[in-house]
Amino acid sequence: MERITMRQAKDYVGQTVQIGAWVTNKRSSGKIAFLQLRDGDCYFQGVVLKADVSEEVFTLCKNLQQESSVVVTGVIQEDTRSKLGYEMLVQSVELVGESHDYPITPKEHGTDFLMDHRHLWLRSKKQHAIMTVRNEIIRATYEFFNKEGFLKVDPPILTGSAPEGTTELFHTKYFDRDAFLSQSGQLYMEAGAMAFGKVFSFGPTFRAEKSKTRRHLIEFWMIEPEMAFMHQDESLEIQEQYVAFLVRNVLDNCDIALDILERDREVLEKYTQLPFPRISYDDAIELLNANGFDDITWGEDFGSPHETFIANHFDKPVFIMNYPKGIKPFYMPLAEGRDDVVVCADLIAPEGYGEIIGGSEREVDYAQLEENIKNFGLDTADLQWYLDLRKYGSVYHSGFGLGLERTVTWICGTEHIREAIPFPRLLNRIYP
Ligand code: ATP
Ligand code: MG
Ligand code: MG
Ligand code: MG
Repeated sequence: MERITMRQAKDYVGQTVQIGAWVTNKRSSGKIAFLQLRDGDCYFQGVVLKADVSEEVFTLCKNLQQESSVVVTGVIQEDTRSKLGYEMLVQSVELVGESHDYPITPKEHGTDFLMDHRHLWLRSKKQHAIMTVRNEIIRATYEFFNKEGFLKVDPPILTGSAPEGTTELFHTKYFDRDAFLSQSGQLYMEAGAMAFGKVFSFGPTFRAEKSKTRRHLIEFWMIEPEMAFMHQDESLEIQEQYVAFLVRNVLDNCDIALDILERDREVLEKYTQLPFPRISYDDAIELLNANGFDDITWGEDFGSPHETFIANHFDKPVFIMNYPKGIKPFYMPLAEGRDDVVVCADLIAPEGYGEIIGGSEREVDYAQLEENIKNFGLDTADLQWYLDLRKYGSVYHSGFGLGLERTVTWICGTEHIREAIPFPRLLNRIYP
């Protein structure tokens, strides 16, 4: 007999199969029991008719507790009422692992309680839906960059210096010297781009963010593409194509998850339509000031209400371009004809989800870069290898970083970034 998962059911209608599953719920009367089951991938129903099974099996079914694990054997049949389209007419049930007093019940639980039980909370329908979307975004990311001819390069996670300052960096020991956990692989990706042309990375990053917001994790995953021989305008095109591709694939491949999340598909469809609007930082400040925001002036970085207003104004993800050099890192070049703004853009998601992407062109002139490093109070010795890239065939290049969990939260339309990663690390939480 074949062991299948319920996703394969359509090929097994009328056949007897086995499925390993957990019991999420059950109800029974004298003659029939309905088991709500979860095989890790799909949720489905098992129907047990007292007349079809042994006395022992029927009694077992009536007594199954939430989250006990079973192997059910039965016939796959169509069920037009379920979204999945199939259920199992159960012939026998083998109890694999008992479960007693499972702490997460169908009643509402507080966030702290759920976070303390994150290892079990992951089993719930909504969490399963979010992880399905996360998985699809990861899958589509590889598909997109492979299709576009990018090579995956993995930057180091342990680094020996803190080239952008230490305030948000985790400090650790590397034998008898100091080391830091990576907060971005970008500088290494630039070396990658000079070696391999178009590269992307996808890995964990660490930031000792002292703020408690619904958008910041301490440990999160970032996708960082870097492209040689590419100016900012072309980079923005790749960014919007990539983001639209992610939304398209979630729409096409995560039907059940989107239903569970009650995500409005028409809203998501809008995000697949290109191009995304672009606005300069200068104009964004003007727009804010004209609309009653008197708490921000030219030269300051946007707060979350500002970003939310701008993106909602356009009703689509929007690129804010050319920020003041004073609020951006040392490696961004000045915009042509300006000595106050740099060639960069952040992609801001609507609906209050904030910055999804930060990107820029990179300074390629050796002398200028060296001057920037000094002006930012950084140590040129730590960055000599990076300066070297400007010595041997330096070419114009651009890159960007997309936060995976930000993107998952936005596409899912969920409240808080903590649900977008299996085991979130937050300011006051590193358990479980
Ligand atoms: P923010 O302004 O929201 O703090 P940032 O400008 O510090 O973000 P970047 O250094 O530009 O972030 O990183 C690139 C991307 O990584 C961001 O656009 C965002 O999607 C994501 N990101 C940054 N910090 C975090 C974090 N603490 N948790 C989750 N994602 C993050
Ligand atoms: Mg930040
Ligand atoms: Mg930012
Ligand atoms: Mg940024």
